[in-house]
Amino acid sequence: MKKHLLFLGPPGAGKGTQAKLLSEVTSFLHLSTGELLRKEIDLGTDLGKQVKDIMNKGELVSDQLVLEIVKKNLKRNNKGWILDGYPRNLTQVKSLNDILEKLNQPLEIVFYLEIPDEVLIKRLLLRGRKDDNEETIKTRLKIYKETTEPLIEYYKKLSQLEYINANRDLKSISADIKQKMA
Ligand code: ADP
Repeated sequence: MKKHLLFLGPPGAGKGTQAKLLSEVTSFLHLSTGELLRKEIDLGTDLGKQVKDIMNKGELVSDQLVLEIVKKNLKRNNKGWILDGYPRNLTQVKSLNDILEKLNQPLEIVFYLEIPDEVLIKRLLLRGRKDDNEETIKTRLKIYKETTEPLIEYYKKLSQLEYINANRDLKSISADIKQKMA
């Protein structure tokens, strides 16, 4: 079974939900940069203070800050890991490649959760997180298309990409993911 995984896809595609479910059944480490950043904000740390406004606007936190968080949390482990929300641009891809080379644990599979824009917007508005208002969602989708979407082509060329239809119920999606991991 593959155990070094990455979830890619637009905000609202369900990366976090699927990554969490999968980490519960496999006991792989679930590393969500969004979740880790929100934790820093809740704790009121210096880092949290630095990123709060940026995140609430739906913009990307600096590569350097995110890299620090990833380095701190992505340690070599024998169980496996699931990356969720990182990398989000080509600079972050490069940093991740360096980290993984040092860990000697290459990425094995990239799940791309595919879903139409209309569905995303509806889902995010229903979720109602602090950064889930109409204005912010527009910004996040725009940034996603401009900076994160090119990663799909990058991982496709490396033959690491698996397409997942994310416009379905949770269970069908996780069953599909598990089958592709085998
Ligand atoms: P979503 O994918 O639904 O937008 P996340 O929890 O993954 O939710 O991310 C929330 C916010 O956290 C992003 O809008 C961004 O501000 C910040 N963030 C998360 N991951 C990264 C990253 N890899 N690089 C820069 N900013 C990030």
